[in-house]
Amino acid sequence: MNRAFNFSAGPATLPTEVLETIQSELLDFQGTGISVMEMSHRGKIFDAVYKESVANLRQLAAIPEDFDILYMTGGASTQFALAPINLAGPKTAKKAGYVNTGSWYEKTIKAAQTVGVEVFDAASSKGSNHNHIPKEIAGASDLAYLHITSNNTIFGTQFQSLPSAKESGDAKLVIDMSSDFLSKPIDWSNIGVAYAGTQKNAGPSGLTVVVIHRSLYERESDETPAMFRYSTFAKNDSMYNTPPTFQIYAFGLIVKWLLEKQGGLTGIAAHNEKKAKLIYDVIDGAPEFFKGHSVTDSRSLMNATWNFANTDLNQVFLDGANDRRLDGLKGHRSVGGLRASIYNAMPAAGCAALAEYMKEFLKSNG
Ligand code: PMP
Repeated sequence: MNRAFNFSAGPATLPTEVLETIQSELLDFQGTGISVMEMSHRGKIFDAVYKESVANLRQLAAIPEDFDILYMTGGASTQFALAPINLAGPKTAKKAGYVNTGSWYEKTIKAAQTVGVEVFDAASSKGSNHNHIPKEIAGASDLAYLHITSNNTIFGTQFQSLPSAKESGDAKLVIDMSSDFLSKPIDWSNIGVAYAGTQKNAGPSGLTVVVIHRSLYERESDETPAMFRYSTFAKNDSMYNTPPTFQIYAFGLIVKWLLEKQGGLTGIAAHNEKKAKLIYDVIDGAPEFFKGHSVTDSRSLMNATWNFANTDLNQVFLDGANDRRLDGLKGHRSVGGLRASIYNAMPAAGCAALAEYMKEFLKSNG
């Protein structure tokens, strides 16, 4: 086997041992003679896979009992619309706060405005090309919710802690956790809804996990079609229609891997911190050469972004990385330069190999 270290932003690297489990179970799942992809979602075997994944996720992320766990599809992008439709509809304030920390903000507010929700700009980092998380968030007392993106995949910034009730003006948080879901413990105290596609930290693409406080269903409108309502998924164990069964199975394996092999979310958080430090230490050791995009106290532990002072070196670095089987390091066009996505499944050895290469690159080009 010759696996590369894959720094792709998502879909992203998965734990090799989980892929091996999938491989070994693929043709004959639990002695049934068929694969997990080929069986009814309403059968006993899949029902157990589903139930175990939900129970393990609740334990792993310490999700309180008054929250439901929903398995949906359509990615975070669909949640950009479902959140305003269901949480800021006719029964509540048609106004919601949004914190602008990067490109996803434009899409989230567009979706909200399309369904007639007034957007309140609670804070923004736009003036500095989103190189930090705003320190001051202006809450307002009449907001249906306050929306944030906990980790900004493109710019490489991350909320170090979630806004408190005081900061959000007592509005519950709706959080796009796409790129740091299950990478560290989650403080549920001020959360109304947290959503994430699984394709970065927690599985293949095609599954969106939504964790929602049960009190929020009463805001839904009867005019919203069933498939677009959170309560439909809650009432039907996420099986009102056919769910993405293979993805739920794979997600369940990752949750188990985090729970049993990585020391839970506290364990993986410590591991992720160590991994990110390997890379940020190299950047900090030569700040005139490696121009980190994020300011230090907003740095993401999931996506490290930098440019070379001499931007001609970007491609040279990528070519050398390619030779070393360090894949997926090209930065997003809105920041340029390099981006190392180092989600849960990136081993420390991958970060160490990248850090080593960065040091050698500095020696020969600095
Ligand atoms: N939000 C964030 C923070 C993301 O990183 C992404 C995907 N890169 C999205 C939303 C969009 O997610 P999806 O493609 O699952 O709709």
